[in-house]
Amino acid sequence: MLLSVILPCYNEEQIIAQTYCQLTQILQSLNNIDYELVFIDDGSEDSTFSILAGLQQEDPHIRIVQLSRNFGQQMATTAGMEHARGEAVILMDADLQDPPELIPDMISEWKKGFDVVYGERTERPNEGLLKRLTSRAFYQIIHHLSDVEIPQNTGDFRLMDRTVVQAFLTLRERGRFVRGLISWLGFRQTGLYFRRPARQAGKTKYPFTKSLKLAADAMVSFSSRPLKLATWLGFSASGVALAGIVYALVMRLLTDIWVTGWTALFIAVLFMGGVQLICMGIIGEYIGRIYAETKCRPLYLIQKKLGFPNGEPSPAQDKIIDD
Ligand code: UDP
Ligand code: MG
Repeated sequence: MLLSVILPCYNEEQIIAQTYCQLTQILQSLNNIDYELVFIDDGSEDSTFSILAGLQQEDPHIRIVQLSRNFGQQMATTAGMEHARGEAVILMDADLQDPPELIPDMISEWKKGFDVVYGERTERPNEGLLKRLTSRAFYQIIHHLSDVEIPQNTGDFRLMDRTVVQAFLTLRERGRFVRGLISWLGFRQTGLYFRRPARQAGKTKYPFTKSLKLAADAMVSFSSRPLKLATWLGFSASGVALAGIVYALVMRLLTDIWVTGWTALFIAVLFMGGVQLICMGIIGEYIGRIYAETKCRPLYLIQKKLGFPNGEPSPAQDKIIDD
């Protein structure tokens, strides 16, 4: 049986060779399992690609897909799934934060009949307080907003059965939050706990703003409740405004001293303006994504492939560029 391991890499020159060695050691110790390593070079600007190409010369297990620019981890992962051929497919980060030692356990869960085996993090040492707090807040919010149950404290580290991969590839949306989409697919899913080590070398590719964008993508694509929040905010603000109007009219008609009130006016204008902008912002988040979807651009483009025998079809990718 063939196992595929997909590793998206963006500027990972400092660690990629080490990842390859540790992973290979584990994979070679598996009985009766042939494997392939599908590296997706997500537009790295450093020497990641040439290091991978060098390794590929020596080891035919390696396949490399180089994207034409940085498309982001979600697209790189998708590209990997288009190119993996295994009966079981593993997604993992290329920085050894997803320990390859967990792979044998994942395989035994899969053999028990689970279609998705995801890694759940018990500890995240050396990840900043801000990252841990915001990540926690994000999962709490998405839990309340969305009907899809996305397990907390998971990354993309998981094993998937071929049926799940095929199902995933039918989802063509641009706003991709891969782990959420996989939860949405259903099938029999289970988790395995692991301790997430610190990054061994190199830097995180997720500065705060990029994490925020991923969180916004996830919320908008998994819930329309923010739109309801906009409506609710609008009604509440109108209620307050109505009370203000009645008050102003009563004071104007029934008293002689109704001249002051500049403060109230100022507050009302700012308050209503604020609420309107928030609501427009929420609607804008959705419209922007509708716009991106209607353009139907390919999810990613390929610069070069290495390790794919000539003539071997990769129908999924050709389809993606056509549609
Ligand atoms: N990554 C990628 N494209 C990007 C950003 C990240 O392919 O635009 C890869 C990166 O090389 C790594 C994985 O996604 O293999 C996870 O990234 P990182 O380790 O920086 O995330 P963190 O562990 O800090 O959340
Ligand atoms: Mg990492």
